[in-house]
Amino acid sequence: MRAAADRLLIATGNPGKWRELRALLEGLPFEVAGLAEYAVASPEETGATLRDNALLKARHARAASGLAVIADDSGLEVDALDGAPGVRSARYAGLGASDAQNNARLVAALAGVPPERRAARYRCVLVYLPADPAAAPLIAEGAWEGRIVDAPRGAAGFGYDPHFLVPDLGCTAAELDPACKNRVSHRGVAMRVLRERLERLDAGARDRRR
Ligand code: IMP
Repeated sequence: MRAAADRLLIATGNPGKWRELRALLEGLPFEVAGLAEYAVASPEETGATLRDNALLKARHARAASGLAVIADDSGLEVDALDGAPGVRSARYAGLGASDAQNNARLVAALAGVPPERRAARYRCVLVYLPADPAAAPLIAEGAWEGRIVDAPRGAAGFGYDPHFLVPDLGCTAAELDPACKNRVSHRGVAMRVLRERLERLDAGARDRRR
């Protein structure tokens, strides 16, 4: 078993996010751990922004585990709904709502809105918090443009993916295989930025040790 300093806790209780984040972290020199292993419950997401909530989740998980942590807060922003469900995406149809319930509310909210007014985007804020509480967090953001369709398509992904059409690719996010989604998604974009910063940090630390 590696030293605690090499372990990285993925602070999410969402199985879809967990799968994507684990794949996106491949190749980094961490042994990845999950919340269940450390008996860390997800905190209440009281922040007003994705960034606030990502920091809140990361700090909560680090305090409970003592490990370096990566946390994601993400959501869907629909222009015709003035940016809703946004920070409330996971609980759009109520606290503890299922993906099916959230999707049903989304489709109902957009009833009568023509295709050209259904622009939407996913946004993701990723936070990396080192195990050392004195060290600053690294924060990266990503967005992914699409359009909401009434009829669900595809069985991959999670959340709103069956209703999130990616016009450039001519399919919904749920019709993409996981590797393809990770290459183009909000989470994939944010992780590429974060990985570059982590690599710069690591190179800096090695230079200082020389
Ligand atoms: P939270 O970040 O835990 O507050 O939840 C984010 C919510 O946004 C998820 O429960 C989904 O409903 C939605 N969401 C975020 N990213 C994705 C994605 O990649 N696909 C589908 N839904 C997503």
